[in-house]
Amino acid sequence: MRLDLFVHCSNHAPQSPAGQIWLRVSKPEQTLNDPTAWPNDGLPIFLACPVCNQVSKHFSGVQAFPPEELHNSLQSGKVWLRVSYLCGMEDCEAPVEFHVLMDAPKGQKTRDGISDEVLRTSVLLSLQRNRWTGYRPCGHDLRAVPDRFYRFRWMEKLQGYDELDPRWDEMRSIK
Ligand SMILES: [Zn+2]
Ligand SMILES: [Zn+2]
Repeated sequence: MRLDLFVHCSNHAPQSPAGQIWLRVSKPEQTLNDPTAWPNDGLPIFLACPVCNQVSKHFSGVQAFPPEELHNSLQSGKVWLRVSYLCGMEDCEAPVEFHVLMDAPKGQKTRDGISDEVLRTSVLLSLQRNRWTGYRPCGHDLRAVPDRFYRFRWMEKLQGYDELDPRWDEMRSIK
């Protein structure tokens, strides 16, 4: 087993293993030294806890070897899906993004968007039903927006939340 990183979901007792959100970085040695990968990019990251679905904000992770009982599930090909949109509440234009852990889709050809229609529908349904809870970076409640506002990206390498990223301007211009 290789070194990985975890952050702690605030919804669980501080030392509880259930609260450990393992990042499952695909190439740990590379990621831990890559200046453009989180947490080296110096940005906060928003991650949904796979256990309780609460989205929390993190600035750093703990390097450790994952516990034995997680080895199988860690190796079963999970991928972080980044969900992005613009807030839109009370004229707020703040960029919103968080990551949810998904089973790696078969035949995923593009990293932007979800090419599998069944999977895409199920992710949108989860969003409509407010499966993931918490707060947006601007402080507004994390609740569903119309389907057409969502952008998805499969993240081989996790990156922090950058509100100055040019992709937000692109999203504002097509809104
Ligand atoms: Zn949790
Ligand atoms: Zn907002």
